[in-house]
Amino acid sequence: KKENEKYDRSFKVILIGNSAVGKTNILNRFQKNEFNPNLKATIGADFVSRIFEIKGKKFQLKIWDTAGEERYLSFSKIYYRDAVGAFIVYDITNEESFNKLKFWLEEFRKNAQENAVPIIIGNKCDLEKQRKISKEMGQNFANDKTCLFMETSAKDGTNIQEAFEALTKAILNVF
Ligand code: GDP
Ligand code: MG
Repeated sequence: KKENEKYDRSFKVILIGNSAVGKTNILNRFQKNEFNPNLKATIGADFVSRIFEIKGKKFQLKIWDTAGEERYLSFSKIYYRDAVGAFIVYDITNEESFNKLKFWLEEFRKNAQENAVPIIIGNKCDLEKQRKISKEMGQNFANDKTCLFMETSAKDGTNIQEAFEALTKAILNVF
C-alpha cells in the first residue's frame, strides 16, 4: 500500500438493482467522471476505492459493483457481507426495475451490516421523455422505507458525486 493511501477506517458500499439500470456506468462516472455507453463488463477490479478526509481523518470508501450476475445475487451473501451502505438503483424509464426495489432493499437489510444505510437511486434522469416513474414515486418509496433518495444520470453526471457524498455522510453518522 502506498504511503498516501493510508487511512483510519474502511467502508464497504455495494451497488445493487436490476440488470441494465446503470450501476456500472454510475461507478465509472464516479471514478473517472466519464460516461461510456459501450461499457459492457464491470470495471476490471471488483471494487473502486477512494480515500477521503474529514476532520483530519482519512477514510477509505470501497465501492463494489456486481459482475453482471444480478439474477444470482440473492445467493451471493458474500457480496452483501460487511456492507455499511448501498446504492439501490432503478431506471426511471423502467417500471420493472422500480418494482424490484423492495426486493433489493430486503436483501440488503437482511444481509448487510445492521443499520447499514441505503440510498435509493433513480438513474437515467436525462431520459425525461421516456420517464415512467415520477420523481415523487421514487421519493415516496424512499420516505416510506426511511432511505435516502436521489435521481441521477450517469450519462450527463447529474447528482453522481452528490449521491456518493450524501451516502458517505450518512454512513459516518452511523458507523
Ligand atoms: P448495469 O447492468 O446496472 O451495470 O447497467 P450499465 O451501467 O451496464 O448500463 C446499462 C445501459 O444503460 C447501458 O447501455 C448504458 O449506456 C445505459 N445507461 C446507464 N446509465 C445511463 C444514464 O444515466 N442515462 C442513459 N441515457 N443511459 C444510461
Ligand atoms: Mg454492470
